[in-house]
Amino acid sequence: MKLDDNITKLKNIGETRALAFKALSIYTIGDLITHYPRDYEDRSKITDITEIELDEKYVIKATFYKECEVLRARGMIITKGFVKDKTGTLEIVWFNQPYLKNTFKAGSDVYFFIGKVSEKNGKKQMISPDFEKESEISLNASRIVPIYPATNGLTQKLLRKTIADSLNQISEEYEDFLADDILKKYDLCAKSYAVKNIHFPENNEAFFKARKRLVFEEFFVLLLALLKIKGVSKDEATSVFINNNFDTNINFGYELTNAQKKVISEIKHDFKAGHAMCRLVQGDVGSGKTAVSLIAAYLAIKSGYQAAIMAPTEVLARQHFEGFAEIFKPLGVNTVMLSGSMKKKDKDFALAEIASGDAQMIVGTHSLIQDRVEFENLGLVVTDEQHRFGVLQRKTFSKKGEFPHVLVMSATPIPRTLALVLYGDLDISIINEMPPGRQKIETFAVNSSYRNRIFEFIKKEVDAGSQAYIICSSIENDTENIKSVLNYTEEIKQSGLNGYSVACLHGRMKQSEKEEIMDKFARNEISVLVATTVVEVGVNVPNATIMVIENAERFGLSQLHQLRGRVGRGKKQSYCVLVSDSKGETTKKRLKAMVDTTDGFLLSELDLKLRGTGDFFGTRQHGLIELKIGNLYKDTKELAIAQELAKEMALKGIEGNEKLVGTVKSLMDKLTKS
Ligand code: ADP
Ligand code: MG
Repeated sequence: MKLDDNITKLKNIGETRALAFKALSIYTIGDLITHYPRDYEDRSKITDITEIELDEKYVIKATFYKECEVLRARGMIITKGFVKDKTGTLEIVWFNQPYLKNTFKAGSDVYFFIGKVSEKNGKKQMISPDFEKESEISLNASRIVPIYPATNGLTQKLLRKTIADSLNQISEEYEDFLADDILKKYDLCAKSYAVKNIHFPENNEAFFKARKRLVFEEFFVLLLALLKIKGVSKDEATSVFINNNFDTNINFGYELTNAQKKVISEIKHDFKAGHAMCRLVQGDVGSGKTAVSLIAAYLAIKSGYQAAIMAPTEVLARQHFEGFAEIFKPLGVNTVMLSGSMKKKDKDFALAEIASGDAQMIVGTHSLIQDRVEFENLGLVVTDEQHRFGVLQRKTFSKKGEFPHVLVMSATPIPRTLALVLYGDLDISIINEMPPGRQKIETFAVNSSYRNRIFEFIKKEVDAGSQAYIICSSIENDTENIKSVLNYTEEIKQSGLNGYSVACLHGRMKQSEKEEIMDKFARNEISVLVATTVVEVGVNVPNATIMVIENAERFGLSQLHQLRGRVGRGKKQSYCVLVSDSKGETTKKRLKAMVDTTDGFLLSELDLKLRGTGDFFGTRQHGLIELKIGNLYKDTKELAIAQELAKEMALKGIEGNEKLVGTVKSLMDKLTKS
């Protein structure tokens, strides 16, 4: 059997079961083998029947000393078993499984039973225990037992059996694409050992060894694939020479913060080095990344190059265009906008200016990376809100010039470990200081019974000249408990905020409509904007002081933080109200964290922690695949050594190691497809 064989090749798996496996995204033997346990239960300790106490889970080893009885009570069929070990006897009950009477016979067959014990009429009973015959290979008892993510129609027992079968039948002995000296250097076990022991660990130590190896491998392959996609090595020489000596005392109308100045000097230093800059500027929403990128662009333009900035949405691109043009115009720099929604005539004109070099500062959306856009002399590319763009788009963008300097700006404060994976090829600058005069955004977590009070509060603020956002998680109603933009807007107009200027904004509106609404909101002709997360990214209306988020449980922490960052951008005290009726523990923890802190880095660390392995915040949003076993929060050691090795191997080249080349290549395909 091979890893990419269909699971129906296994004896026990027919079409119906295959369908159940499909619900877990398991199609092939390889999928099965990487369906890692979500937990383990140590069932290796056997307890004597006389030692058993109530309400604990035990493993006992016993035989049936008489036939089972089947009786009916309260509409249920109860099967009673009577077992003994060398110390005593115990009753066992199962519900609605009358066939068990024929499974168990009085006699010498030894079974393991695993279950909780309670008391009935003064007698101890084990309730619906899991069981396994001693003579069978031990998958369910007397060992450390895996517990898998399961689904309807697939019991743990069946999963264990199926996975054990496939492990046994894999004919291609795991070819280890890590050479022996590497295994030795990083103290890693062999692949075949790791695969066996991640499912059915011989003991604790074996599990840790297995996991370490698999986590390391997952990170290593991922990082290698990313390095190959990015293709740019940090020390790329460039002929783009940006003079960093120009006076950059640009009048923004405010003094730059020390953090901004520090990042600017780091950028200037990069320009001096003679290599293409690859720098990520991380700064919380509102920390003033735009001004930093403007100064970098200014230096490039003064040195005779074009500079371009790409934003993820039209709204944001337009805002940047206006901001850049306002500052650059008096300095004699020509700023040009390019976006998909522009009229053909305007677009053609912009394209011509970009191609001729008349356009010095170019602001745009994804349109900038289309084939027909040709730059005359591109020296600096800036991508704003990078987490919205895939690695591939960033690369396409920089290919528009000849090794231009690259500046990437991210408003998502992410833990260092994640940055390492996402931006392994970048130097990182952090703006860790907010412009002065900002007040802490007061945050409240409430349930929907507060809704009227929220409306009163909004009215009070609007009467005083401020504005408010109300965020809904969907555009149209999908269920009763979820507020949607369209319905809620109408509802509010009729009752809650009757007489106030309320409008809605969502991703399904035409571009021109969206722009009109945003413009009106920016000019305070709209007081309350009901919107989806389209306003999440970068929008800047300093006069808005209230952010209400409906169904807050439906958003991740990082997203809530981003949304909250839409207010508190001016001098006025701002507020964020998180509305949720959810009683879930994780939701409560998340909302409490939002109330307790406005530190984006802290929140994103927590987000990572709360979501644990697998689908943690935005791997998909970051254009990454889901991790199957590695945990970026916990496995920092493995991540670090995997990175060291990935870099080394990327430089050395992996040709010749066919297995590794194949694995990396298929992952690259996955990563670049999305
Ligand atoms: P972000 O980092 O989220 O992109 P922006 O660049 O949009 O933040 O800046 C947010 C707001 O802060 C803007 O209105 C900008 O004019 C203002 N701002 C930026 N830097 C400073 C500063 N040093 N002092 C005062 N206001 C600033
Ligand atoms: Mg920004």
